[in-house]
Amino acid sequence: MILLNPGPVNLSERVRNALLRPDLCHREPEFTDLQEAIRAKLLSLYQLDPAQWVAILLTGSGTAAVEAMVSTLVPPTGKLLIIENGVYGERLSQIASIHHINHQRLSYPWGEAIDLAGIEAHLRRGITHLALIHHETTTGRLNRLSGIGELCKQRNIRLLIDGVSSFGAEELGFESWGIAACAATANKCLHGAPGISFVIVRREMLASAKLPKRTLYLDLETYCRMQDQGSTPFTQAVQTFYALNEALDELRDQGGWQARHQNYRELADLVREGLVSLEIRPLLRREDASVVLNAFHLPLGLSYNAFHDWLKANGFVIYAGQGKLVKSIFRVSTMGAITRQDMERFLEAVSEYSQEMAGSI
Ligand SMILES: *Cc1c(COP(=O)(O)O)cnc(C)c1O
Repeated sequence: MILLNPGPVNLSERVRNALLRPDLCHREPEFTDLQEAIRAKLLSLYQLDPAQWVAILLTGSGTAAVEAMVSTLVPPTGKLLIIENGVYGERLSQIASIHHINHQRLSYPWGEAIDLAGIEAHLRRGITHLALIHHETTTGRLNRLSGIGELCKQRNIRLLIDGVSSFGAEELGFESWGIAACAATANKCLHGAPGISFVIVRREMLASAKLPKRTLYLDLETYCRMQDQGSTPFTQAVQTFYALNEALDELRDQGGWQARHQNYRELADLVREGLVSLEIRPLLRREDASVVLNAFHLPLGLSYNAFHDWLKANGFVIYAGQGKLVKSIFRVSTMGAITRQDMERFLEAVSEYSQEMAGSI
């Protein structure tokens, strides 16, 4: 089955085989070595200096990392501005509400661009932290962070990024954009197995992660302190660690995030052009979308469920729209161990389906 949903992704044989390595206790030195290797590889992927940055590993899906980041790094005296233009931006606000974090929301319609003037106006109000999504998977929009980072730098505001569906395949200017922390996951653009996620944090951010703590299981300060000592506060998903370690080696061997970006770019263009030739229109312009996922208007009169089920019977899983977009769009992701041939076969399958539908009217 070819998975065109935005994670979990198809694993390569190399990564799948890593899941079968010997059983391992998370309190033994072999686990420490594994954990340390992954932490170092995550930093080196974006050439981050280990003296300034740390990768903190959690057992949990991407949302665990996002919740850990927001609930740990905004101190009780802080004020968080959340920018929303999709489901995941709105989730940031849910997290802030649940943890009683002093926050404001700046909402844009799903899929729309964020305007710097709007943010600038909000930043006057005693804001200390700003959180937003890099790649808003709801619509495939890649939010441009460099201008926002510049505004934050000028005002000494800490920038918290949900990079769950961009880390490993899109540019992330940790230093140049002034990112303070970025949450991400093993099983999207890194091509690991689901079950672990992580936050890349500027070390100085943890010094100010003061008591009182808002969370026990998701407290980044505790994880960081113990992982720096080669330990872990709780049981980690050991097999998933093996797989991520292998996936990071595979990514390095393939040429790093830049090569993965290029590969996704080619697949995304192939899908875009192929679907446009079948009169299926993309939701966003090419320059506004990520290379990781593209959303398309569901052709009028086409039932998503029937379309999905037919494609699934032919070996492809596509992804529905969420919330208010559930009836109007479908999404195709380019992540995972999939090839150009897989995408060509996918387009042939869609073409065959459109012909069947045309014939049945
Ligand atoms: C996938 C995703 C998440 C996390 O989803 P999980 O189901 O918890 O892994 C968070 N943010 C974005 C932008 C995502 O694409």
